[in-house]
Amino acid sequence: MPMKRTDFTPRQREFWRCFLLGRDGYLCVGCNKDVSTLIRESKTDRSLPVLLIDHIDGDTRFTDSRDGVHGGNLRHLCYSCNRKNVKSARPTMPSREAPPELLKSETSKPKFYNFLNAYLVENKNICYKRMLNRGSKLANDSSQITATRWYDQMVDVINGYEEYSLDMVNGDCDYSKCNNIHVCFYGEIPREQDVAKEQALREGIPDYDDANRFT
Ligand SMILES: [Zn+2]
Ligand SMILES: [Zn+2]
Repeated sequence: MPMKRTDFTPRQREFWRCFLLGRDGYLCVGCNKDVSTLIRESKTDRSLPVLLIDHIDGDTRFTDSRDGVHGGNLRHLCYSCNRKNVKSARPTMPSREAPPELLKSETSKPKFYNFLNAYLVENKNICYKRMLNRGSKLANDSSQITATRWYDQMVDVINGYEEYSLDMVNGDCDYSKCNNIHVCFYGEIPREQDVAKEQALREGIPDYDDANRFT
């Protein structure tokens, strides 16, 4: 029976799509056909994605506690495999024989992205150095070099992250190790105006808006 649509928010959907493409590659984990083959074979409207996010346990509602932690309950299936509701897809989590570094990476990487996404949803941007420092610690005490690699996989890609220099937006930062680079969701570099307004509000300038109206 075809699965009904899941209730991801658009941002959750984008994030997990990127996560699954990074983890499993650009293919259906049921039949191992890659995206270009699936597009070539597709008879339906090609503006639709050829890979669907499938919940392995069959419960199509997205819940943070079950799906949002390691992504172990999620996988990409093509329409045909999704219809057949394949049970015997190749495993999406590393087997017990996987080397310990890989196991650690498989569970740590989603923790790093979860931390970064949650921080950006809340604060709009994060100091690059603070991201590596705090993110690596929260991701099972991974090294900052590893955290940098995870970050690099998602920077400057649509639905990933983007970085900018504080000079560009006339911003400031209270992190002592700041190197003048901050990170935001891709396409969401703050405008100078917003930063100036935030600063003014922080410094308690009450008539900032009034003054600004005439500039
Ligand atoms: Zn398939
Ligand atoms: Zn900073």
